[in-house]
Amino acid sequence: THEGGLADAPPKPAEDNKLRPKKIAEMVGQQDVIERLRIAIDAARRRGEPLGHILFDGPPGLGKTTFATVIPNEMETVVQFANGAGLKAPKDLIPYLTNVSEGSVLFIDEIHRLPSSVEEYLYTAMEDFRIDIVLGEGVSARTLNLDLRPFTMIGATTRAGMLSGPLRDRFQIREHLGFYSVVDLCEIVCRNAKKLNIGISVDAATEVAQRSRGVPRIANNRLLWIRDYAQSKANGTIDLQVAQRAMDMIAVDSLGLDKQDRAYLQTLVRVFAGGPAGLEAIAHTMNCSSDTLEDEVEPFLLRYELIVRTRRGRMATPKAYEHLKTAS
Ligand code: ATP
Repeated sequence: THEGGLADAPPKPAEDNKLRPKKIAEMVGQQDVIERLRIAIDAARRRGEPLGHILFDGPPGLGKTTFATVIPNEMETVVQFANGAGLKAPKDLIPYLTNVSEGSVLFIDEIHRLPSSVEEYLYTAMEDFRIDIVLGEGVSARTLNLDLRPFTMIGATTRAGMLSGPLRDRFQIREHLGFYSVVDLCEIVCRNAKKLNIGISVDAATEVAQRSRGVPRIANNRLLWIRDYAQSKANGTIDLQVAQRAMDMIAVDSLGLDKQDRAYLQTLVRVFAGGPAGLEAIAHTMNCSSDTLEDEVEPFLLRYELIVRTRRGRMATPKAYEHLKTAS
């Protein structure tokens, strides 16, 4: 269904790629991060060396993959995409590492999900551009020594705290991506409406920005839904009323919370009397995974001071009670 799911599910790949910036200059917000990266890129290019390894952390949808796309473009090199969850054994790394060309980029998303056996191989790969892999077992075991071409690793994680010290230390550049301001999101929405060939008024774009929880991916998803709504239910352009009606229809409230966010607050308030309640207990009650709650729901609720994390568990704030009263 369109409900809830639509609001936060990644957009269809074709549209995601269409909206994704290709150059640093096309990116909006994260100015301090961008400024530091420009310097590192410029210096590496002057030296004719690969860029140092970079780690991005922050909640989903804030631009980690976008950075992993624009940085190789600026370095005029290619990038391979891998996911930590898919690299289960050291041998899974080999195709990627043998494929790296000099100065190219290897992007590993969800790098905190690498098993430690794989992680350990990255230490020498990143530091000395070399790996020694034992293949097979017992008498048929043999060691494969591989010299790699110097490359740049870009790691992305929603959980910087879950990375082991030795892995974290091998990234020369570490950047945290924070939530976007309404002004920046509004700019992203306006640019993307243009890319999608649809008219949008400034007040409508601001409304979308205000209801996107500080996350560009969510803003894009809202925009795609509102475009459909405008084309099907209105004259094809997005004004404030169209934007509001379309977002009301997918139950996105004035703060940008969707059904899942409100269900979290309601569970905490009704079932656990406002807390403190453990994350696992909340997740069980809501019948969803604690990872989803911790990565996608809680960061905004914390930032917006709707919940607090205490040693004994999560607690709803007076602001949460106030919001639930007006939102229901
Ligand atoms: P995940 O880690 O969950 O994959 P992510 O942090 O990698 O998420 P992206 O896929 O890079 O997030 O970003 C989602 C979408 O948001 C992109 O397709 C792009 O259109 C938009 N976006 C992200 N950051 C920016 C930015 N700084 N300027 C403009 N658009 C952006």
